[in-house]
Amino acid sequence: MLSVIVPTYNERDNMGLLIPRLSRVLESESIPYEILVMDDDSPDGTCDEVQRLSAEYPGARCIKRMQDRGLSPAVMEGFREAVGDIYLVMDADLSHPIEVVPELYRAIAHDGADVAVGSRHIKGGGIEDWPLKRKVISWGASMLARPLTSCSDPMSGFFAIRPSVIKGAPLRAKGYKILLEVLVKGRYDKVVEVPITFKDRELGESKLGSDVIVNYVQHLMWLYLHPGSAPLIKFLAVGGSGIIVDLGILTALILLIGDDIISLPGYDLKYVFIFQAISFAYATTWNFVWNRHWTFDARSAKPSGQYVKFLTVATIALIIRTALFYVAVNVLGFQGIPEYHISLLAVIIFVTVLNYLGSRLWAFKK
Ligand code: UDP
Ligand code: MG
Repeated sequence: MLSVIVPTYNERDNMGLLIPRLSRVLESESIPYEILVMDDDSPDGTCDEVQRLSAEYPGARCIKRMQDRGLSPAVMEGFREAVGDIYLVMDADLSHPIEVVPELYRAIAHDGADVAVGSRHIKGGGIEDWPLKRKVISWGASMLARPLTSCSDPMSGFFAIRPSVIKGAPLRAKGYKILLEVLVKGRYDKVVEVPITFKDRELGESKLGSDVIVNYVQHLMWLYLHPGSAPLIKFLAVGGSGIIVDLGILTALILLIGDDIISLPGYDLKYVFIFQAISFAYATTWNFVWNRHWTFDARSAKPSGQYVKFLTVATIALIIRTALFYVAVNVLGFQGIPEYHISLLAVIIFVTVLNYLGSRLWAFKK
């Protein structure tokens, strides 16, 4: 059974179009369904209209929401109310093509998808009647979300999921972009995108104003901080903090006990080397903890095995870095002002990529 969740605020006139059309399409495809209109106590009588229509279309009902107003809380409450085996979310204003509803349903019911997205940004999809300004804002907003998901239209308000995708997921009912929230925090393997043409509404008014942009930026911030999202960015941030830990400990060791050691007979560079090994071990452990809990959210596997692998990757990378740098400076003779720095940078980038791949594909593999 398909549960269609439709959040509404002042959409009375659209109900008389959406509910009959949607019911007809689903019945003609023999898809069992319920339509849950999640209404924020609209003053225009949206719920009464749904009530009236349900005499003829008993699959539709309205849930009047008196508390916790807003688009995301409405959809999340819809997820809790729904009794179907597949949940589908769509706008009330006919912006989303009703004919595509069965396709999204089938992508999950028959093609094994966990998430099916009505996408404007893949081949065959598009947006009709939007002013350039709105297209530019939408494009910019999508770009900011790029590192969070591989879905080409994570801003879409038209998507279907299996209930298992969000079961137990720590969804926050804050941002307007519920799909993005689901893609970052949900549990799923296969995402299918179906091209849609988004049409601007004909009846009623858009509720999404400038506060939406502020809300979106805040929402993005939380999603970027969420464990496991955008791992490359987190890995780089953790690595940067590890450098500070490394240098901090090294400096502290030299300042605190360096003098005593230097005054020892037989002092040589090997003490500095020991200090470096100590600070390296500390920094690597620091990186390990952050990467395990935050970058890759890999707490389900045993830490001991992960730690050994992570340490192995870090040590190999350190050896490779030292060797490459030696070759660049002493063999190839990159000692001048730009060459020295460029070769140093190239070596660091190369080794960072190695470290990342080793961590992601081996040490913290899920
Ligand atoms: N909506 C809602 N609560 C809100 C804002 C919007 O239920 O606080 C519903 C609205 O009725 C519509 C959908 O969310 O069904 C998308 O809103 P809208 O069409 O106003 O946004 P736009 O298409 O202009 O981005
Ligand atoms: Mg709309």
